[in-house]
Amino acid sequence: MTNKELYSILDLTRDASPEDIKKSFRRLAMQYHPDKNKEDDAEEKFKEVSFAYNVLSDPEKKARYDSFGMEGIANEGANYSDFSNFGGLGDIFDAFFQGTASSQKQTNLRGTDIAVELQVSLEEVHEGANKTIHFEHNIACSKCKNTGQKNGAQLGECNECNGTGEIRRVERQLFGQFVNVMSCSMCTGQGKVVTDPCEDCSGFGIKLEESTKDIDIPKGIRSGQKIRISNQGNSGIRGGVPGDLYIHITVIEHDIFKRIEDNLIYEMAISVPDAIIGFEKGIPLINEEKKHKMKFKPGIQHGQLFRIKKKGMPRLNTNTLGELIVVANIIIPKKITNEQKKLIQELGGTLTVDSKKIPDELSVLNKFGVDFE
Ligand SMILES: [Zn+2]
Ligand SMILES: [Zn+2]
Repeated sequence: MTNKELYSILDLTRDASPEDIKKSFRRLAMQYHPDKNKEDDAEEKFKEVSFAYNVLSDPEKKARYDSFGMEGIANEGANYSDFSNFGGLGDIFDAFFQGTASSQKQTNLRGTDIAVELQVSLEEVHEGANKTIHFEHNIACSKCKNTGQKNGAQLGECNECNGTGEIRRVERQLFGQFVNVMSCSMCTGQGKVVTDPCEDCSGFGIKLEESTKDIDIPKGIRSGQKIRISNQGNSGIRGGVPGDLYIHITVIEHDIFKRIEDNLIYEMAISVPDAIIGFEKGIPLINEEKKHKMKFKPGIQHGQLFRIKKKGMPRLNTNTLGELIVVANIIIPKKITNEQKKLIQELGGTLTVDSKKIPDELSVLNKFGVDFE
């Protein structure tokens, strides 16, 4: 225990304000911290300074010290050795100055991200679109300027920890006494709490609000992709950065087109005679009134593909377009009349099929890419 006057250890007089005490401690702790000061007595001085600050920064201990001197705090269990296990300077200031510059990241909590589902049509994805979304998010309360305290006034001191952000409990055990330091749960270690809640937000500093936002749908986006809009999520606590808004895209299934990556697929039904003798047909295009006229030569095979360049979907973030792929589906009737049967039999007699030699390009097995020994 020291016999020195605690105020004089901190270069102060008895009328020092809490702010003076804090400032002096900061200055002296920096000066004497063993990491910085290699002089022989630096560590001892550092412990003295820390001890003085520990007593004088605690209103209750300070009152006892002011009235009874060292006697008043003799049973406190606090002595220099409590301060001998500190780590670096950063730890010191974290321990003593919860809620000030060194722990900004703790006090200003970033807001959470939010997600909004948005359905878009294939046409909208093809052309690009602007959609309005409605969503709810927590925004900073303007009445209290995000503090939660009425009219944005300064937060009050936490009663639980007297504004230190820490709860210290002295445990006496067989081999000595231990100081158990815990973060104050009342103020989550901030030292400050809302003492006079803002009526608008009940002291939370944020409130739920419905918002609308116009969103540009980029050409070529796919189901499952997300659009991120920075800082439009939930507001942070006490001035923390807002989270982000994520828009989860679902592209609605189309009536006639299917999509494979950036290509569109159009399944065309073809009758047997058409497949044999060929035909002309207008193929529907996405976002175009006029059909794409196509001539199909005789001898179309089931599953044959026809490609129309640049009539597919835009490739995201490029100026290029995929293909429209027309798939030939030859429809074999399952029911026919007796008359049709007769006609087909007549026709059948004139068509010959070489069952021994199927040309490679017509082989179904070739399409599967199967190798045989
Ligand atoms: Zn408020
Ligand atoms: Zn507290």
